[in-house]
Amino acid sequence: MTRNNNKNYALVVFPSPPDKAFIYQVPEKLKDTIKAGQIVSVPFAKRTLTGLVIELLRETDIKPVKNIIHINDPEPALSNELLKLSKWIAEYYVSGLGETIKSTIPPGILNKNTLYVKTTVDKLPEDLSGSDTKILNEIKRKRKVSVVNLEKTFPEINVRRILSALEKSGIVQTQYMASGKPVSIKTEKIVHLNTDINESELESLLKNSPAQAQIVSILKNNNNSTARKNLPATAQTLNRLLQKGIIRFKENEIYRVNSDRIFNETEENYILTDEQALASQKIESSLNSRKFKIFLLYGVTGSGKTIVYMQAIKQVMKAGKSALVLIPEISLTPQAVSRYKAVFGDKVAVLHSRMSPGERFDTWRRIRKGELDIVLGPRSAVFAPLKNLGLIIVDEEHDSSFKQTDPAPRYNARDVAVMRGKLNNAVVILGSATPSFESLYNGLNGKYEILKLEKRVEKTPLPAVVLVDQKKFASDKETRIISPLLREKIEHRLKLNQQVILLQNRRGYSPFLMCSECGHIERCKNCDITLTFHKSTSTVECHYCGYKQPAPDTCPKCGNASFSYSGAGTEQIEEELQKLFPDVRTLRMDFDTTRRKNAYSKIIRDFMNHKADILLGTQMVAKGHDFPKVSLVGIISADTGLHFPDFRAGEKTFQLLAQAAGRAGRRNTQGEVIIQTMTPEHPVLSFVLTHNFDKFYKWDIRNRQGLNYPPFGRIILINFSGIKQQEVLSAAEFLKKFLAREKGITILGPALSPISRIKNRYRFQIIIKSSKKTDPSGNKIRRLVKYALHNYYSKNKFHNVRVAVNVDPINML
Ligand code: ADP
Ligand code: ZN
Repeated sequence: MTRNNNKNYALVVFPSPPDKAFIYQVPEKLKDTIKAGQIVSVPFAKRTLTGLVIELLRETDIKPVKNIIHINDPEPALSNELLKLSKWIAEYYVSGLGETIKSTIPPGILNKNTLYVKTTVDKLPEDLSGSDTKILNEIKRKRKVSVVNLEKTFPEINVRRILSALEKSGIVQTQYMASGKPVSIKTEKIVHLNTDINESELESLLKNSPAQAQIVSILKNNNNSTARKNLPATAQTLNRLLQKGIIRFKENEIYRVNSDRIFNETEENYILTDEQALASQKIESSLNSRKFKIFLLYGVTGSGKTIVYMQAIKQVMKAGKSALVLIPEISLTPQAVSRYKAVFGDKVAVLHSRMSPGERFDTWRRIRKGELDIVLGPRSAVFAPLKNLGLIIVDEEHDSSFKQTDPAPRYNARDVAVMRGKLNNAVVILGSATPSFESLYNGLNGKYEILKLEKRVEKTPLPAVVLVDQKKFASDKETRIISPLLREKIEHRLKLNQQVILLQNRRGYSPFLMCSECGHIERCKNCDITLTFHKSTSTVECHYCGYKQPAPDTCPKCGNASFSYSGAGTEQIEEELQKLFPDVRTLRMDFDTTRRKNAYSKIIRDFMNHKADILLGTQMVAKGHDFPKVSLVGIISADTGLHFPDFRAGEKTFQLLAQAAGRAGRRNTQGEVIIQTMTPEHPVLSFVLTHNFDKFYKWDIRNRQGLNYPPFGRIILINFSGIKQQEVLSAAEFLKKFLAREKGITILGPALSPISRIKNRYRFQIIIKSSKKTDPSGNKIRRLVKYALHNYYSKNKFHNVRVAVNVDPINML
């Protein structure tokens, strides 16, 4: 009787505000099945909401009034381990537990509950204000509308205040309802032949009905059962057979599988290089000791890091454990997937954002059941419900796509991976040719063990890098984009029947369209940013909000009809290549050419099969690919990121250039890299020339120490945005009042964000920094921010200002 007494109450969170835990009573009939991590339905205000049980309690001081209605799925959506991880994320990244949990399970399972409003009267009262009437008319027109939508429609009105008054007078009614499409289990009808009927009986039952007899014979030929859809039968025929007791129906669960075509790669059976063997040995002995440990696999491009990962995975498989491999979304190509499938076959589950919600849901459920032991995926795969996790790999660990910017929780999957490794006593391998300063710092300080791979496999040397001073060629139309040297090198490589990759990290034709008469530049109506000219569509577009308009024929200001197209984007470079090399086949790979499903894979496959000679594109071309025939890489302009107002500008530029350079000469041929720049004297480039990341690190890290930038300090960025500039600033100033000065903590701002307006919202930011010396775990700075947020919200007057907290931000724009 007493065994379930510790399950009297349940703490439940919801995926949408109010983001705090609510307490419910567990009715007697559910006590046997209820578990933490389950998704349940509960009454809330006037509605039934779905929430997740985060904890079960024996007793509570708060008197819960309501019962849990039912348990939606007896299998917990979150294991205890993932629940613990979510709590850590909410704490560390200062996010709500509900929103955090929502992002740890696939979309469609725990749907957001949205506040809707409808009118309850047929005739509107006559004594209403203008704003009241506007809102009511909108509600009447749409019958039912979400409050958030109303706020978007009437940014100038305080919608929530008006609704609350209208609700009090009984004119409208608000209620929470689940929004978004739920995902469900897909089943298939299977038809079985009853085998306990003897032949003569069967014959007489089927007499005079050839249609039924045909179906029976098909079933016999298929081992007595097949899917309904395979049977050429009408519903009537099947019903007759059912009534006669000849067949039975059964619903079988089926899995939706993504059919992105896979390369047929065969298992790579190499003799490990000495460096690979040594690294594998160290990892192996660590796996055997079953203790939490972090390795930094610091290996130059083409040194064979993937083989080391695979060795480690083989090892954990032997021990009967599971493995998680995170790679940047962009690198998660069919080519990359097939390398793993070739070795581990059907044990590998792949998760990526191009999958449909159904496919994701099915894969997630199979992982949860333990049918798949290896998960390969981007950032969000860090939450894959693997049991008995022995190994986590983060490939290209420095990649900024591991950091989620929006919505909250703004986590870094690399750091979450480390935490998950700790919770599981697992081994974590962070791999990169150019590690993040944070990881390298931890490596040099002994927190991580560094494993170095300094040589490329098969003794292939690293490519030779040459800098071209593009200033000399900037004023000449012929050489402005492609210098004489780069042109000559491309010709040479094409003659040898080799391939070329060109990187320009800027899409479109030109980042702005400038009137050559008056200098006018078109800017976005909604954002503080110039509009990029796209020649192929003859439009100017905002790369922040997507705003688009036809490109003007004449300057809107002075009427002049000629523009200058400075700062070439990928479109303009493609055009230039066609001029210089009319017979050469080029492929362009950027956001615009890869929008369609599978377009990205197709470009890679075509280039792999040498259907093109030059691959041109944004950073997409730099990531992880292994094209054996590429021997030349050209960087059209190294300057795009170099002069960014960001303390990581140097680090990010080095990483991008090194990755791009790493595509050249990966097998036996000596590769070459040409880097064009307007500032050849820039120190970062001198380190890139010699592939010396260690030296670059030593040089650049000094600049961070004095200012307490990471890895010497911790940053929390608080971003404020809203329609009215003054209101946003006031909100930021209001919050700042609660950020008390503390020793070792610096508070900067509020100041306009570097991009001061996006989608019509003004943006201000406060930066809070603490030094590792006085605040080693970051507890102080987090406590300070939480205290300020708590006060800000409890006395909040700024309903129209959005506040976003970003712990360890990577992008400060
Ligand atoms: P990285 O990720 O370090 O850039 P990869 O793991 O992609 O390098 O390996 C680069 C290429 O070298 C791959 O084509 C891989 O098959 C090959 N390779 C890796 N290890 C060996 C080895 N020991 N012997 C021969 N080839 C190898
Ligand atoms: Zn815009």
